[in-house]
Amino acid sequence: MDQIKNEMCPVCHTKNLVLSEEEKEVPHFGKVFLFSMNCSNCKYSVSDVECADVHEPSKYTFTIENEKDLNIRVVKSSTASVKLPQLRMDMTPGPASIGFISNIEGLLKKFEDILVNERDNAEDDETRHEAKNLLKKIWKVKCGDVPLKVIIEDPNGNSAILSEKAVVEKLKIK
Ligand SMILES: [Zn+2]
Repeated sequence: MDQIKNEMCPVCHTKNLVLSEEEKEVPHFGKVFLFSMNCSNCKYSVSDVECADVHEPSKYTFTIENEKDLNIRVVKSSTASVKLPQLRMDMTPGPASIGFISNIEGLLKKFEDILVNERDNAEDDETRHEAKNLLKKIWKVKCGDVPLKVIIEDPNGNSAILSEKAVVEKLKIK
C-alpha cells in the first residue's frame, strides 16, 4: 500500500490527511485500485475503486438465497447505483458516494446503517416504523429465510458481484 501523509484536509484544513492507494487482484474480475483519503483530525473519509482494465457499462443482478451468499465478493465504485427493489431502497451515486470492495453482507450493512439511523433519529413515527420493518426484513434475508434481489448498475463498469449466480448485462445508458 502506498501512502502520502500530512496532506491538507479539505474539510478541517489541517495537515492530517492521509492518501492511500492499494492494488488488489480480484479473482474473475481483474486488478483493482483502491483509493482512500482519511483525516485523523475531523474523521473525514472517502474511498473509491477503479479497475485496471476497461469494462463495459454493466448491470449485475444477484439474488441472495442463503447465508453462504453473504460471503459473495462485491466491488462497488462511487459511480454505481445499488438497488434493493423488493425493499424499495437504493444507493445512488453523488458527491458523498464512496467505492469499496466488500461482500454481500458488507453491502447490506450499509443499508442497515442508514435504517438504524432512521429508526433512532427520524422525526416522524411512520419513517421510524418503516425503518424498523425494513431492518427486520434484512435480518430475515441474512438468515436465509427470504430471498432478496440486489442490483448494481455502473455506467463506468467499475463494479461487480462476483458469483456464477449473478446475471450480468450490458447497462443501457439513458
Ligand atoms: Zn480533516
